[in-house]
Order: sequence, then structure tokens, then C-alpha cells
Amino acid sequence: MKLKIFIIAIIIFIVVFYFLAKKSKNTMATKKCTLKHKFSNVSSARLNKVNATLVAIMKEAVKCSPFDFGIAWLGGFRTAQEQSALFQKNTPSKWVTSKDGYIKKSKHQYGKAIDIVCYNENGIITWEPSCFKKVAAHILEIAKNQFNIILIWGGDWTKKDYGHFEIR
Ligand SMILES: [Zn+2]
Repeated sequence: MKLKIFIIAIIIFIVVFYFLAKKSKNTMATKKCTLKHKFSNVSSARLNKVNATLVAIMKEAVKCSPFDFGIAWLGGFRTAQEQSALFQKNTPSKWVTSKDGYIKKSKHQYGKAIDIVCYNENGIITWEPSCFKKVAAHILEIAKNQFNIILIWGGDWTKKDYGHFEIR
């Protein structure tokens, strides 16, 4: 009789322990931040025709990004003409893009890339690599942990393109 009670007690203990463990794991996985940032209407419109997963990653990442960020002008999908127009803006002192849009196509023409702009703590656009580096680390982590996707970041390239993110 005592043995029966002992076995039942052990089973109850295991069941309770299992549910508590499961609950704490779920809490960790869905660790939610309080919403700090969200895309403006302008940024949202610039995500039109961009790969749905890439858009979902960016929308999730902006919420708790260490710095606010938006989508750059022509930072989403581009037509060949738009890509070509950007290519024309290359000057010896300022490199914009190496893709001319016709012979060399950009990932933006396939909707598989996004360029962001970074805002500093005062909400002013900044081109400081330090701002992009912190935001990029956050975006890449969200992509990996919540979407199981390894994004390509332009900041890892020899010719730095800090605002550029693309999906394979
Ligand atoms: Zn880009």
C-alpha cells in the first residue's frame, strides 16, 4: 500500500516537473520585448514586392532594435531602370553600387534585399558604422533564432554596404 502511494507521488512529481519545465522553456522562446519601434508608412510602402520572409524578419527585428531603423529610398524592390539610375550615381569619391541593373543585376531586382537607414538616439539618420553594427547583430540574431535563416549582411563584405541585408 505504501509503495503504491510512493509510486503515485513520484508520477505526480514527474508530471508537474515536466509541465513546469515546458512552461519555462516557452517563456524563454517567446521572450517578448516591449514594442519600442515600428516602421513608418513610408518604410512599410518601401517593403512592397520584397520577399515575405525578409519583410517578416525586419518587422520583427525593428520592434526591439537597439537603434530605430527604417527602409532607405529604393531600399526594397528595384526595377532595372531604378537600379541603373543608382548605378549612374557612382562617382570616383562615392561608391553607390557595382550592379548596373542590366548586365549585372542586384538582389534588389529580385526582391531579395533590403537597405536600411539607421537612426541615432536622437532619432536623426546616421551613417555611423557603429549604429549599423549594433542593429545588424540584432537583425541577424532574430533571423537565426526566430526564423532559422542566415541572412547576408553587406557590412561583412570587403566593400562595406552597412545598410544592406539579403536573403539567399
Ligand atoms: Zn542593398
